[in-house]
Amino acid sequence: MVNISNTRTLNQKNLINNILNGDTVSLSRAITLIESKKNSDRKLANNILKECLSKNKKTSIRIGITGVPGVGKSTFIEALGTYLSKLEKKVAVLAVDPSSSITRGSILGDKTRMKNLVKDPNVYIRPSPAGNELGGVSNKTRESIILCESAGYDIILIETVGVGQSETSVYEMVDYFLLLKLAGAGDELQGIKRGIIEMADSIIINKSDGDNISAANQAQSEFSLALSLYPVKLSKWKPKVTTCSSINNNGIEEIWEDIRDYFKLTKKNGYFLKNRNNQKKNWLMQTINNRIQDDFYNDSKTVIEIDNQIELLKKNKTTVLAAAEKIIKNGT
Ligand code: GDP
Repeated sequence: MVNISNTRTLNQKNLINNILNGDTVSLSRAITLIESKKNSDRKLANNILKECLSKNKKTSIRIGITGVPGVGKSTFIEALGTYLSKLEKKVAVLAVDPSSSITRGSILGDKTRMKNLVKDPNVYIRPSPAGNELGGVSNKTRESIILCESAGYDIILIETVGVGQSETSVYEMVDYFLLLKLAGAGDELQGIKRGIIEMADSIIINKSDGDNISAANQAQSEFSLALSLYPVKLSKWKPKVTTCSSINNNGIEEIWEDIRDYFKLTKKNGYFLKNRNNQKKNWLMQTINNRIQDDFYNDSKTVIEIDNQIELLKKNKTTVLAAAEKIIKNGT
């Protein structure tokens, strides 16, 4: 008779070894386990993650890329990824896509958006899962980052659209945050929130080609001036504004140089490690919060008491504060 438990351990070991050897099929399988809602899958995924984490000796660099739909994120990632691959770097592309919970689709679901990159053996592309809430999606992205690093990827690019809290979530899991913009359209028109500019380590005016070059240069000057008025960042890094044409591959090399300068500075002044440790702490706190919330709301006593209290509220027989207190006491 086959011992299921032994088979499981063997499969787990194989999967871990394959991931550490850079096998992308195993990497995808592990990420699927992480994204699974089944408890047994999550348990297995956690074991894999723990093993990978302890065996991984490599420090990758994690870059967040944001901008409104249509600004050229995937075209830019295609250009940057191809450039990095030529430098013999291994690049993983992940996505945090809060819209997927609504559309059940994914911004990276259509892989044809990065035609060359998907065929590149140095590049791994993983579309984001259709999650229900952003907290979950971003937590899974964090775990996916660790798995990609274990599989030997040097550079992790994380794409997100500027919807809801997605930029903030991505900002909290990367070392370097890059904002893509277009010349000639106001921030409001581009859906750019003020806070995003403050988070950016680099602003890139994309589509600087053809008739658009002078408008892009103009935008570059305006943004450089605006940025000089912002307070100095904790990293001591001074964000730059660069123009770029992703379709013509113009500006990509300069942008990579800038990214390298950032890492040189922040590794030297200690910010890189400090930031990563802070991110780990926040990740832990978020995980605890999510877990407590899940446990609380899934408890049948809570569900019943919420219904009871809503009925009492409708009849003006209690106050919101008193109702909340009763629900919390009952649910725990
Ligand atoms: P995303 O929604 O931000 O991922 O944007 P896409 O990468 O899908 O690009 C949206 C459109 O802009 C596509 O038609 C691209 O071909 C075009 N595009 C992207 N980058 C450039 C660029 O540098 N120059 C020009 N002229 N068009 C670009």
